[in-house]
Amino acid sequence: MGVFLGSLHHAVRMVRQMGLKALLNGKTGMADDYSQASDSDDSAELFSPLHPVFADAPGSVNFRKLRKRLVRQTQEAIRAYGMVPDGRRPRWLVCLSGGKDSYTLLSVLLDLQWQGALPVDLLACNLDQGQPGFPKHILPEYFAKIGVPHRIITQDTYSVVTEKVPASNTYCSLCSRMRRGILYRVAREEGCEAVVLGHHRDDSLETFMLNFLFGGRLAAMPPKLVNDAGDLFVLRPLIGCAEDDIRKFAGLMQFPIIPCNLCGSQEGLQRMQIKSLLDDWEKRNPGRRQTMARALSHVRPSHLVDAELFDFAGLDLGAPGTKDDGL
Ligand code: SF4
Repeated sequence: MGVFLGSLHHAVRMVRQMGLKALLNGKTGMADDYSQASDSDDSAELFSPLHPVFADAPGSVNFRKLRKRLVRQTQEAIRAYGMVPDGRRPRWLVCLSGGKDSYTLLSVLLDLQWQGALPVDLLACNLDQGQPGFPKHILPEYFAKIGVPHRIITQDTYSVVTEKVPASNTYCSLCSRMRRGILYRVAREEGCEAVVLGHHRDDSLETFMLNFLFGGRLAAMPPKLVNDAGDLFVLRPLIGCAEDDIRKFAGLMQFPIIPCNLCGSQEGLQRMQIKSLLDDWEKRNPGRRQTMARALSHVRPSHLVDAELFDFAGLDLGAPGTKDDGL
């Protein structure tokens, strides 16, 4: 019986891996797939136990659906944006700050990897930036408990930032620039081709609105980019996941959250305004955030006014029309 189940488990893994290959080669639009996919497919759990990261997770149907939704949306993003290369197994540096988003990111990636659906080696990583009261023991203990390879880096950027930036200004710009430089260095040292971050749908949407309303440009947070030096990817596999789902998931998983205000810096006033604007719209018209996020993947360059993006001068009569429904 044990031998039979073992072979069956192996066969299921093989089928899943073949399924992933097909997915990675597919071309379907991400947003449409989200709305059509189902949360009710239980086949993935018939034969395999869950990764140890879920050892203390609730057994409720609601939790299972939530977990599956996050996993499915993440897998879709990985496929739609070509995050995993064909024909080789990359190594990813998965960055954890100790907040809800990054814990969720790691759990979902481990889940996919455990199911044989993510042919990637993962190295979890935390950067201790020397903020006062930073609980150094929490993440190493967590990584050890779930048995995940990890690296903790200690570098006191906090002192540098507080010394250089006047107390009346926000520290975030310099702080995040320094953090990025350190993470790039560690990724290179560890032979990782990508730095993987926990930003989600709502982070991207807020960034888009900030750029639109305050920055004078149309730009969100990209799901995948190449760094300026051209030697590393920056990936955001949670780009299709709603913050609300992540918040609920993190609460149910009882992650040992590290507070995000240890540095004493406030979130930018403009970002807070955008958040409350979006929250207000969402309350009055549920579904607005998802619709707006979908718009980011349905762009019509011919209906914007950027001559570098669309060749208006080259438009000529007799050529195929460019949709006149915007008149
Ligand atoms: S909130 Fe604090 S830790 Fe985060 S980027 Fe800003 S200064 Fe750095």
